Amino acid sequence: MTHTATLTAAGLTPAEITGGTLAVHSPIDGALVAHVHETNPADMPAIIARSVSAFKAWRTVPAPRRGELVRLLGEELRAAKAELGALVTLEAGKITSEGLGEVQEMIDICDFAVGLSRQIYGLTIASERPGHRMMETWHPMGPCGVISAFNFPVAVWSWNAALALVCGDPVIWKPSEKTPLTAIASMKIMDRALARFGDAPEGLVQLVIGGPAIGEALVASKDVPILSATGSTRMGSIVGPKVAARWGRPILELGGNNAMIVAPSADLDMAVRAIVFSAVGTAGQRCTSLRRLIAHHSIRADLVAKLAKAYASLPIGDPRRATTLIGPLVDHGARDRMLAQLEKARAEGGTVHGGATVTEGVPQGGAYIAPALVEMPTQTDTVREETFAPILYVLGYDTLDEAIALQNDVPQGLSSCIFTLNLREAETFLSAAGSDCGIANVNIGPSGAEIGGAFGGEKETGGGRESGSDAWKGYMRRQTNTINYSAQLPLAQGVKFDF
Ligand code: NAD
Repeated sequence: MTHTATLTAAGLTPAEITGGTLAVHSPIDGALVAHVHETNPADMPAIIARSVSAFKAWRTVPAPRRGELVRLLGEELRAAKAELGALVTLEAGKITSEGLGEVQEMIDICDFAVGLSRQIYGLTIASERPGHRMMETWHPMGPCGVISAFNFPVAVWSWNAALALVCGDPVIWKPSEKTPLTAIASMKIMDRALARFGDAPEGLVQLVIGGPAIGEALVASKDVPILSATGSTRMGSIVGPKVAARWGRPILELGGNNAMIVAPSADLDMAVRAIVFSAVGTAGQRCTSLRRLIAHHSIRADLVAKLAKAYASLPIGDPRRATTLIGPLVDHGARDRMLAQLEKARAEGGTVHGGATVTEGVPQGGAYIAPALVEMPTQTDTVREETFAPILYVLGYDTLDEAIALQNDVPQGLSSCIFTLNLREAETFLSAAGSDCGIANVNIGPSGAEIGGAFGGEKETGGGRESGSDAWKGYMRRQTNTINYSAQLPLAQGVKFDF
């Protein structure tokens, strides 16, 4: 299918993709596919004001009724899955299966949120005073700003929007300036759900297009109490303090530097499969991509040999081709950064396998590169940085304590895993003295999370949680209620105040 046909099939009109100031290139071949209209920063106050008005109406709509809107969104996404998935491939360069998987993730979170809309529970709490009852009530919080990254151009919005909407919060979405087309197409799908829903307030779900300056308007506004920002640690270090300084609630989902420990007892064939998917899937451009392999010295050489063999067989090329497993990097800048990091790793004593630019058998104009395996003598500064590309650093260890110390000795704390058949090792890894990450797995890789769990990480990953479990609480305000049904007015802690 041509790029134009993919855009048309996803419902984008000529007016939406021409005449604007934001140029959009496809990572597949670098082709210029659209000029999208950017939001005027001067319009941001009115956009935020519309969201505030929508909040006043939406917060009183019963949560199960709010869930109906998300149910309809899920239905519309199911109907549009193939076309939106293909657009994700066109705009973000993901292979077809991963583009479709991203839309499936949107559908999954809608299903989750519909159920949640009937399960927004608070606690009842034992009161120390006779004739009193205590409880917690969860209330809508207000407009939720969503700033998203290029590598999950639509799923991250849906994680936030599906929860925020059932929680009673309007949403203003600023997607990555690299991926506005999938955002416009998703918004059109949302508009169809809104039309079928019927009586949602105007401005309940809005999309703004542009770079950091547009995001900054959401970051700075006191009328946007929740600001969910997904992207680099650099971005989070700017956005987080600004939101905190105005007493807003930041939900930060930032960079990762995810590791796998492979113990002597590990099922190596399974480990190899998990390593390859998590290190080279999405061309190493997932926040949860495997970036560090910490292998026991007794199996390290064997594992590296197996991996080198597997890496040599991976089809690299056009992400639309059914057999391709590694598509392009998002742009040439990303490839340059990968090559520069490999140079730095070499200078620090690393031995690099792979990592060459690929020009044969791939669409011209895209940034295609073979994934790299880099054997490192120690965990150097370069290894401690997140490079958003398929580089896997290999380190060795003798004792599990040493392996866990290496795993934790990076600034980021997103995802982690261990391959072992030894129960003591697995449980130690998951214990308080084990992995310091928000996600810790046993005998599966660090990437490819399901929506049912809370997603997010510690340290420079930002501490935010999205998606499943009780992440919804981040989109609501908790109110503690004490109800006195007695004829007395006793004070807590036995305090006397008689007059
Ligand atoms: P990026 O930080 O360059 O941009 C992310 C978003 O932030 C974009 O929409 C951008 O316009 C916006 N932004 C940048 N500076 C801003 C500012 N000062 N004020 C307001 N908005 C600003 O990230 P990217 O290159 O698009 O994505 C890759 C990064 O995202 C990686 O570090 C990856 O690990 C991370 N990521 C994290 C998660 C997670 O859930 N933890 C998920 C996906 C991606």
